[in-house]
Amino acid sequence: MRNLANVPGLKHAHVVPADSVMKQFQLDPKAYDPVEALEKKVFATGKGAQELIEGDTPLFHYALPYIARDNQNCLKCHEGTDGDVLGVVSIEIDMSKQRHAMMLSVAGMLLLFMLFGAVMSYLLSRLLKPMVGTTKELRRAVEKAEGGDFSARLSRQSDDEIGEIADQTNHFMQTLESTFGGISQKIETLTGTYQSDERNLLTRTGEVVNNLVGAAHFKQSIENDRDLEEVYGRLVKVLKRQFGFKRFSLYEAVAAKNKMQLISAEGLPEEELWCDREITVNCDACRAKRTGQTVSSVDEEDICNSYRGNHVQDSEQLLHTCIPFMLSGSVGGVVQILFTRKEEKKVSGQISMLRTYLAEAAPVIETKRLMLSLKEQSMRDPMTNLYNRRFLEDYLDTLLASAARQKAGVGILMCDVDFFKQVNDTLGHEVGDEVLVTVSKILTQAIRGSDLAIRFGGEEFVALLVGADENKAMEVAERIRKAMEDYTFKTANGPLKKTISVGVAEFPQDSDAFWECLKFADVAMYEAKETGRNKVLRFTKDMWKDGESY
Ligand code: GH3
Ligand code: MG
Ligand code: MG
Repeated sequence: MRNLANVPGLKHAHVVPADSVMKQFQLDPKAYDPVEALEKKVFATGKGAQELIEGDTPLFHYALPYIARDNQNCLKCHEGTDGDVLGVVSIEIDMSKQRHAMMLSVAGMLLLFMLFGAVMSYLLSRLLKPMVGTTKELRRAVEKAEGGDFSARLSRQSDDEIGEIADQTNHFMQTLESTFGGISQKIETLTGTYQSDERNLLTRTGEVVNNLVGAAHFKQSIENDRDLEEVYGRLVKVLKRQFGFKRFSLYEAVAAKNKMQLISAEGLPEEELWCDREITVNCDACRAKRTGQTVSSVDEEDICNSYRGNHVQDSEQLLHTCIPFMLSGSVGGVVQILFTRKEEKKVSGQISMLRTYLAEAAPVIETKRLMLSLKEQSMRDPMTNLYNRRFLEDYLDTLLASAARQKAGVGILMCDVDFFKQVNDTLGHEVGDEVLVTVSKILTQAIRGSDLAIRFGGEEFVALLVGADENKAMEVAERIRKAMEDYTFKTANGPLKKTISVGVAEFPQDSDAFWECLKFADVAMYEAKETGRNKVLRFTKDMWKDGESY
């Protein structure tokens, strides 16, 4: 206990004898301090224990058992057995000094840490500043570039790798700006009014390029098309599939006949038009044809008087945009697009691209139309405007195939003006020509629109009547003969009367070979001449003399 007195801060120390010791040495318990809980615990367990008693002065309470050990001669004086707890040594040490010292050292360490942290964060911020700044600028530049704007540049904030990244990015942006940026700009000027919902310049440029490529492919395809019909068919397909238009019509302007001819209409019951029928007999009734300008009800509801779309489709109000396409400075046709208010935005965006397609198609359509008209011309007799023998040669297969489909025969009329040579001889060639023109008119009027009148030779005309039986053919032939007989030609030398002789044959009744049938009609016509002229004769086998060939 004396040694304990040297322990710094010792507040209290005492020995608590065990009950057995008290008893053996008859000690008075009152002379001892009361047994505390910690001490009782040590008695119970035989092991040392400690506790910290918080209060004004913090106390460290420590209790140690004093255990009987036979080998230490304890049991020489004490009763009991080896391992008995004979007493507890209990000490209390004032910890305020230690706590103070500890607090001081903790505060010191904290201060040190804070100082260290401050220095580190200063150093780090100095080191990281260029990196953070460059990253921010880089993100902004990339965002702009994604929108097709490559003008952003990064500032060089340090002379290390970060600065190098900034320089390289700037170089990259410069390259992009002078290539993609330039392309975008050029395409903008190229397509002019191209409208799109797409705000991103790059995506939009991609869209435009795709469409331009599509238009170029389209032009290539139609160049290789056989005829105008195939070209129009392809254009209709593009309108349907590529542009996705559900309602539209395609008209061809037929200048010679001053009419708009419907090529194709989509989204309409057959035989109906989105326009007043007047346009099909008077092309000036079509505003787009007359003005050569795009006509749209988006800008002005009742812009065109000929528009009838809402009579056709009364359930839903339809808007229309009619785009003319120009061939050599005049309107060659019109594409009419019909759409609902809901579709308006999408369609408006497509109109300028459709114009590009039409502009690509126009020269090809023009060439094909020219070829068609040249072919037409080469197949017509310029004086009477009737088809000529060449046309018959070219068209015959189509005509016979159509007749076969209808399971119909073809009535063949061979007509020859009687004593025509006299006209030339007495009145001159010019009067002869006038007479031939009038004969061609008489002939055309006597037959149906679906029949064909052909100037076969000088003053010989052939009429082909598809689906006419023998009686009908004879009836028409007689009508021609009679019309000729009744007609009085007016010439400079006064009125003139002429007659005509007609031979009739039938295909395939008379022969499976068409040209043979035609020859039979000719034979019948000569028979008519020989037997008095101004008459109609049906070919009969007996007119065909053996040994004759056609
Ligand atoms: P037939 O009653 O036997 O038919 O007597 P035709 O005088 O009508 O017959 P022919 O074949 O002898 O004479 C036909 C004439 O038609 C001969 C030719 O000069 C004339 N001719 C042919 N083509 C034209 C033409 O384009 N214009 C004019 N004016 N005459 C033509
Ligand atoms: Mg004649
Ligand atoms: Mg003749």
